[in-house]
Amino acid sequence: MYLIFISLIVTFILITYALLCIDDEKEVNIIISFFLFILWFETLFTSITFAQLRLSPHNNLSPNMTVTTDDLLDCAVQKIPRLNKSWGLIRDCAHDVQVYNVPKAKVPIFKRIPTAFVTPRLFPNDIFVVNSEYDILSNTNKALVIIHECTHLVLNAVDHAYLWQSDFNTLSLTKQLENADSYVDILLNNCINDIYVF
Ligand SMILES: [Zn+2]
Repeated sequence: MYLIFISLIVTFILITYALLCIDDEKEVNIIISFFLFILWFETLFTSITFAQLRLSPHNNLSPNMTVTTDDLLDCAVQKIPRLNKSWGLIRDCAHDVQVYNVPKAKVPIFKRIPTAFVTPRLFPNDIFVVNSEYDILSNTNKALVIIHECTHLVLNAVDHAYLWQSDFNTLSLTKQLENADSYVDILLNNCINDIYVF
């Protein structure tokens, strides 16, 4: 994903540079055509990648998983009532979302293979879970993954820092409210007695 984004920016910069540096009209046209072709190819590649994702098997959360997710969010409402609106939105998301089961080979380019990911602007009701990473989790941890992804979809949360990163413990209160894993952390600290494993 980052590579595609960066290559798009580089393409635009190169087009601008070429236009500024070359006077000959014919050469300018050739260069513009070349870069437009690259741009078209990148767009096509991105479209195919994401279209493929949506061809993966998908469904609502299973009844079993919905119960687990609801239990966690019920607890959150009890323990952290000041975030009730957020918990409610996350619950609605978990009830409505389509979960796509994606094989590792179809995952778009990430720095590491994620357990799950979302593309809120393209597909605001979809969560993509990576089979090899997600299937091995307990129901509770699967529910936490869904809750994490739902915060991206309905609270516009971002990943300032993941739980396992040292920066996580130094986030300001404002950043915590914007950070997906901070909601997971609240549930882990208040509603789960197990050891956190994913
Ligand atoms: Zn995230």
